[in-house]
Amino acid sequence: MALLFSKFKKTLQLTAVLFFASAATQAFAGMKIGSFDPLNALDQIYFVSPRNFTKTMISENTKDRLVADFCKKIDATMKSYKWKEKPCASLPWQADLKTKDGHPLIYVVFGLGKSTTVVLGGVHPDEITPIPIAFRVANYLNSHPEIYAGDTQIVVAPLVNPDGFLKATPSRTNSNGVDLNRNFFTMDWYNRALDLWEKRRQKIASHFPGYFPNSEVETIFQIQLVDHFKPDKILSIHAPLGFLDYDGPGDGMPTTTSQTQKKARQLVNSVSERSKNYKVVDYNFYPGSLGNFAGNERHIPTVTLELESTNPSMVDTYWDQFLPGIVQSINYPFKSMPELEAKEGDNASPFSFKYYFPRKTI
Ligand SMILES: [Zn+2]
Repeated sequence: MALLFSKFKKTLQLTAVLFFASAATQAFAGMKIGSFDPLNALDQIYFVSPRNFTKTMISENTKDRLVADFCKKIDATMKSYKWKEKPCASLPWQADLKTKDGHPLIYVVFGLGKSTTVVLGGVHPDEITPIPIAFRVANYLNSHPEIYAGDTQIVVAPLVNPDGFLKATPSRTNSNGVDLNRNFFTMDWYNRALDLWEKRRQKIASHFPGYFPNSEVETIFQIQLVDHFKPDKILSIHAPLGFLDYDGPGDGMPTTTSQTQKKARQLVNSVSERSKNYKVVDYNFYPGSLGNFAGNERHIPTVTLELESTNPSMVDTYWDQFLPGIVQSINYPFKSMPELEAKEGDNASPFSFKYYFPRKTI
């Protein structure tokens, strides 16, 4: 209850901030003090809010053109890295939201089954190798319908941060300078995200978590994918730390895991086995990260594949090594938690004590 109240309090604080910003915008309109323009100063902090959310939505009549133009840019950029494929143009992309720079947040859905895997790439576009790998996953699935002939569905969002990728030099952050893997509204965000960034990251700009959580359209996009498709598992591809990491049921609980938790945790080992026994590391998750948001707080098994380098010439090697593991993550038989947990009666249902007290972050 205390946690819920605290979350409610933060919502109120956020509402107060938005109200102040809005009132201040009106009060300051047209007013200049010396060279300081308060209205522009406020505008520099751009974020998604209920007031401006419609600006991020793509209208039906512009969608096809927007996606086609975007794919031309992507395919040209791929060529500049000497990646042979044109991975974007030929797929039936969907897109509902667009970024600050006007790029569509594309995703593609394969299969009609109930067991859904979400695959994410390009959250940190300075780590460029995951981007062609994620596009290749989408193309591979497009030409291998047998993978999702049964009860399977796969959603691939190969480039979560297109603004970062399409800069002259790709950046970790989006065009607001926010690290999207620190911007999710996790329960520890207000207490810890900015503090951690200031003290432990010495305010490195590339790890800035945002002025407040869920401020970025790319974060909202990932939340919408999770909320809408209710995945049984998530695979997120990064580089260059060189390991597989797991967040979700059973993570960090070596002795008290139920059968369901064990099965969820084995997902990462099964992906490793199919990827030439790639190293598995229990890496900590951060305030505002996907592993914290989806794995820790929502109990969706979340595997992070960290490729070993960001060297563009390694993409073919990584593809050969990790394709079997990626397909394994899709085929891994793991249904969503609540039904299984309830059947097992192991006191780890969404209504249990364990569910509402997630594991502590670093
Ligand atoms: Zn990363």
